[in-house]
Amino acid sequence: METIGHWINGKLVAGTSGRFADVFNPATGDVQAQVALASTSEIDTAIADAAEAQVKWGATNPQRRARVMMEMVRLINRDMDKLAEKLSSEHGKTFPDAKGDIQRGLEVIEFCIGAPHLLKGEFTDSAGPGIDMYSLRQPLGVAAGITPFNFPAMIPLWKMGPALAAGNAFILKPSERDPSVPLMLAALFQEAGLPDGVLQVINGDKEAVDALLDNDTVQAIGFVGSTPIAQYIYARGCANGKRVQCFGGAKNHMIIMPDADLDQAADALVGAGYGAAGERCMAISVAVPVGDATADALIEKLIPRIERLKVGPWTAGDDVDYGPVVTAAAKANILKLVESGVEQGAKLVVDGRDFSLQGYEDGFFVGPHLFDHVTPDMDIYRKEIFGPVLSTVRAQSYEEALKLAMDHEYGNGTAIYTRDGDTARDFANRVNVGMIGINVPIPVPLAYHTFGGWKKSAFGDLNQHGPDAFRFYTRTKTVTARWPSGLKEGAAFNFKAMD
Ligand code: NAD
Repeated sequence: METIGHWINGKLVAGTSGRFADVFNPATGDVQAQVALASTSEIDTAIADAAEAQVKWGATNPQRRARVMMEMVRLINRDMDKLAEKLSSEHGKTFPDAKGDIQRGLEVIEFCIGAPHLLKGEFTDSAGPGIDMYSLRQPLGVAAGITPFNFPAMIPLWKMGPALAAGNAFILKPSERDPSVPLMLAALFQEAGLPDGVLQVINGDKEAVDALLDNDTVQAIGFVGSTPIAQYIYARGCANGKRVQCFGGAKNHMIIMPDADLDQAADALVGAGYGAAGERCMAISVAVPVGDATADALIEKLIPRIERLKVGPWTAGDDVDYGPVVTAAAKANILKLVESGVEQGAKLVVDGRDFSLQGYEDGFFVGPHLFDHVTPDMDIYRKEIFGPVLSTVRAQSYEEALKLAMDHEYGNGTAIYTRDGDTARDFANRVNVGMIGINVPIPVPLAYHTFGGWKKSAFGDLNQHGPDAFRFYTRTKTVTARWPSGLKEGAAFNFKAMD
């Protein structure tokens, strides 16, 4: 059985805690490896080493640090297929989707090549008589990231890139479900020229996370995962005086207006609802057609599209639409929520409960489900299912549809499908959600914008990647300078008395 350790001080090392977690092949249900779970003392030692390595890295000029990012871009592209294969084998997502996961992380590394520009401070000439004022953006020291299973390349890269380009050392605690790709990325960073110790990738569970939260050397924590854990990390990290940003769960609504192109909307819903088996924080999990006529027509278009979906292992080729979910526990939770939907009176118009894949009976595959007539009091509406289950809530007016999106406790992403610019504009302005799509189902901002939700989807006040990431991973120092008059008053040619 393969064992997966940590990346510490520039090399792969075995764990010493004696504790391990299983890493599954989600397509077969087999345990394919065991990942070491770090102890508090392993974390503390790695942090101390990182702090030492950071001193020189933080003093390296920003352009040289940016060149490491430039080389990293080349190396990720070189190893794209190798990374994607490993990612699919541990996560279960299809090969093209795994490449997309890496690509959206790579784009943030590309953005980080411009870090010197973002690290420039401000300057005021003659802020007072003979006084100049300027600000510096300095690295924090050691920062840490805790990331989820569903994007094992993208989200670690979103965190590592800006933190390192800004001159910090970075400790990543990836998901224990799919830990290999972050270790491969750390090795690539070393090949790109990053000094040893500046990036440590340490696998673990709650013990490792708590050790990061309680270690005084760690100045900042960036978390992405479920909302209860986000709240826990935010509270404990802040109580310990750290800078913390935590991104949590989602329940993204797509509003379909009567004037929308329904074929386009149905295609978008199927891709955004079932892609990656629904295991995306930007997945659309609620469709809100406005008016019964729109709802009936939409459901009619959705059913055949959903029934045609090809579910299978990533090895079955690029025409597989989605793969298994990540664990047996995730599968059981999804199916339990589907049952609750049926019990609470929603109409299950596409029933994936009996889905089974020949030859992969023990894999964690979940068939696609479509609910109609879902109401806001039902568990399938209130909770994040994180599986291939789309709920339809019928609204009778635009205002009612808007209110649904606004009243939900999550506020990560939302979309509207319409041909009317005025409606789209009103929606984008009024809805209390962080990322909005107008005729775009998954509005993930590009690397040079920022990514983040509102309400219970995010805690903290700066977003991920884009300029916000450089604000998060640096602190501002402002210098007020006045220089006494010097030699310019004239040279003295006589011996001066010491007075
Ligand atoms: P998770 O919360 O279970 O785990 C996330 C991280 O927290 C992992 O590294 C895990 O080891 C750690 N962790 C888990 N339990 C912990 C505990 N009790 N104490 C301390 N640390 C703990 O999330 P997940 O299942 O890996 O990922 C799926 C979730 O992430 C979904 O809710 C999804 O919406 C969310 N997500 C959000 C975004 C976003 O940007 N908002 C992006 C991707 C995923």
